[in-house]
Amino acid sequence: MTGSEGLAVYVAPVVTMDPDRPRAEAFAVRGDLIVAVGSLADVVAAVPDGTPRHALEGVVLPGLIDAHLHMQRGGLKALTFLPAGAGVAEFIRTMHDTFDDEDWPEGAAPTVDDRVRGLSVIQPLLHALGFTGVVDPAATPTELAAYQVAHARGILSMRTVAMPYLEIGSDEIPDVDAAMTRLAGVGASTGFGDDTLRLGPIKVYADGEALKGQALLDEPWDDSGYTGLARISDDDFGRLVAFCAAAGWGVGTHAVGGAAIAMVARAYQSVGAAASEKRYQFIHAYLEPSAETIALGARTGAIASLQPSIIWHNGVGLRAKLGERAERANPMRSWIDAGAVLALGSDGPYFAFDPRHLIWQSVTRRIAGDDRPLDPAEAVTVDEALAGYTTGAAYASLAEGRRGMIREGMLADWALWSASPADVPIDQVRDLLVLRTDVGGRTVHRIDRPGGAE
Ligand SMILES: [Zn+2]
Repeated sequence: MTGSEGLAVYVAPVVTMDPDRPRAEAFAVRGDLIVAVGSLADVVAAVPDGTPRHALEGVVLPGLIDAHLHMQRGGLKALTFLPAGAGVAEFIRTMHDTFDDEDWPEGAAPTVDDRVRGLSVIQPLLHALGFTGVVDPAATPTELAAYQVAHARGILSMRTVAMPYLEIGSDEIPDVDAAMTRLAGVGASTGFGDDTLRLGPIKVYADGEALKGQALLDEPWDDSGYTGLARISDDDFGRLVAFCAAAGWGVGTHAVGGAAIAMVARAYQSVGAAASEKRYQFIHAYLEPSAETIALGARTGAIASLQPSIIWHNGVGLRAKLGERAERANPMRSWIDAGAVLALGSDGPYFAFDPRHLIWQSVTRRIAGDDRPLDPAEAVTVDEALAGYTTGAAYASLAEGRRGMIREGMLADWALWSASPADVPIDQVRDLLVLRTDVGGRTVHRIDRPGGAE
């Protein structure tokens, strides 16, 4: 596709996600980088005569980044449940239907080769949805090792930010002090790596899951007075966060309920600039955070890493448990209005991970199994959802200078859509097709005509 100098011009309407130039007519790629963006005349003027020119049918968007996707576990799950050669629609259906099943058959632990094989199955399916990057939000030492092997073998086509997971309370890491000792022994920290594989913040749990009634809330769940499950004490969490800030580690904290989110916000606030520099995250952060908590959380500079998929899936159950209190669940509007950087993700492949579906959900607030949407006051626009998947998730990936926009100097990570999600009625967003996806100038997904995706 490219000329002798590895240079090519692509001509198509471009949604750049670059606030300085939101739309363009063409862009040029040399090697793995975008070298020109703008009007067709400007782009042609920026490259030598005779540079190959490719007209694309569709609209180009930056490659999407899922800021919370368990890709490696998903790869194992795909090996276990998905027939060889299955397409995207079957992949989505199968992951949905096996929500509660183990990733891997009981009895035998997957080998590194199994893990790498799983990645080679799941990556093309995710590229076919327009993804060029993920944040894997809980990578165990075994998973980190397998990612390194996949990268060394040239198999990692998905740009991956792996968040190391230390299971505090396990035999190996009984408490926070043991976790700090481990982290201190690594030397490298958040940000180490390259454009293909990088260490993200560590993953920690502050509370439990909402549908199990474990989200730590300010108001009791019911008349019993129970407010939820604290998985780490305020004091331990504060010490861990302070240690991480001093040692160069970011922290991404699973905090579902308002009281947990408030504890996390206070700890993040205490470390000053480290919270933004190392991309600290509020993970999930969706159930009854008070306005004060959201304001404090946004002020810390930490990222709101939210997953519309969780309320899509849990909305009916939350209404049954909490009644009216469930209506504002997943307050994307409030986090954005408070000034937080929103990074969108899915918690896939367990929860729904099709970005077309999640953009639609973010705008409509619809939930599975009930015709009544949740309170639309927390809805966002298509553009805001796209920003969550591009600029926001790139920022969460420590890659805002490299990814998330079609802009000169950025990596040539892009996808060709049948139309821009911003240009069609919201109910048609779920029917759009991703026709082609490039990562670093290399084509990793391609279908020749609409209708061929399935
Ligand atoms: Zn998760």
